[in-house]
Amino acid sequence: MSDLEYLTVADALQLVLNGVTPLPAERVPLFEALGRVLAEPVTANDSLPPFANSSMDGYALRAADVANATADSPVELQVVADIAAGTVSDLALTPGAAARIMTGAPVPEGADAVIPVEDTNEPWRDAERSLPDTILIYRTVKQGDYVRQIGEDIQAGQEVIVPGHLIRPQEIGVLAALGVSQVQVYRRPRVGVLATGDELIDVDAPLSAGKIRNSNSYAQAAQVMALGADLVGLGVARDTEDHVRAKLRVGLEAGVDLLVSSAGVSVGAYDVVKAVLEQEGNVGFWRVRMRPGKPLAFGSYHGVPFLGLPGNPVSAMVSFERFVRPIIRKMAGHKRLDRPQVTVTVQEQLSSDGRESYVRACVTRTLQGYQAVSTGSQGSHVMTSLVKANALMIIAEGVTSVSPGEQLQAMMIDWPETVF
Ligand code: AMP
Ligand code: MG
Repeated sequence: MSDLEYLTVADALQLVLNGVTPLPAERVPLFEALGRVLAEPVTANDSLPPFANSSMDGYALRAADVANATADSPVELQVVADIAAGTVSDLALTPGAAARIMTGAPVPEGADAVIPVEDTNEPWRDAERSLPDTILIYRTVKQGDYVRQIGEDIQAGQEVIVPGHLIRPQEIGVLAALGVSQVQVYRRPRVGVLATGDELIDVDAPLSAGKIRNSNSYAQAAQVMALGADLVGLGVARDTEDHVRAKLRVGLEAGVDLLVSSAGVSVGAYDVVKAVLEQEGNVGFWRVRMRPGKPLAFGSYHGVPFLGLPGNPVSAMVSFERFVRPIIRKMAGHKRLDRPQVTVTVQEQLSSDGRESYVRACVTRTLQGYQAVSTGSQGSHVMTSLVKANALMIIAEGVTSVSPGEQLQAMMIDWPETVF
């Protein structure tokens, strides 16, 4: 690829994503699977529920026995057993009989329904209350009422969760219910984050002439961590090839799966990242027709995928959103790589220079649909307009003016992707 080729965002994204593959899977204890992506199907060894059980505290009975029961003319049944949760009874219920039963306790042989205690003359129970000899039933029930049937939720042998599915708390619950204590998930990407520039000082250093605090290292570290990836902080490289090389080597030694740098990829005299990559890897340096953004480097360093972000803090963060986040999600095994988008109605006049523009915006939901306002200056150094934003409105390539009332797509940067 030639130097500084101009690419559309879509083309650049495709090139970048084609260059990475999901990481190998690993088996982890159930708790460590939260936020990870399933790498092999989970098949149920058991049915869920594993046996027919009561959904209420009540009396197990035969529906036919209470077919004529009303509050004024209750049916009296003999109470022949008391079935607590966690116990089994070898009882076979005969006509005219009932068994007191707790929620979750197995429904005995012969019973085909449960009547809740509220519909009997024993509407509550406590520890002191002994089992009554008979019980009055005040209403009818249908066969199957208040009985949770075996396999109603999951049948043994069924594929319950498919590969590519995100493990959320509810998946953890299902896996636990099925006795799955170890899960095969994609490995968590290890991401090395490097800032470059002689002007950078650390957050706790006093400002001095010509210096600025290194905010990118922190912002990109936070973006990596927010994805549930493992951060390998590589600090700051000065604008020399040797120093950049030394920092990248630290990343290699730490076994990173991806290297992300900021700054040093434009056409300035000190843009040394490019030189290092050309010597020790392969690299495409592009100008992506994107705003904010533009310079972007993608390639590999000693075989590890490398993405060089622009230096301006907003450009770095937005380029991370657009390119690095999907890469990390692909490595982590996700199927949906992009943020959700909604159609918004623009409230003001917007302009663009024709590059695909990501306008920092606040999107609200109203009865008329999603409305969006930009959050102030769109300069690539203006971080406060990103702080006020919950979305990036996308002005398509080639469009230079958007009028109030027009509709745009907005990338919701605070919304997680759905798993479906
Ligand atoms: P560069 O791409 O090196 O020309 O940098 C572009 C702009 O981003 C310059 O104004 C830099 O000072 C700024 N910049 C570069 N790196 C950082 C960083 N780590 N934190 C904050 N600003 C940065
Ligand atoms: Mg620089």
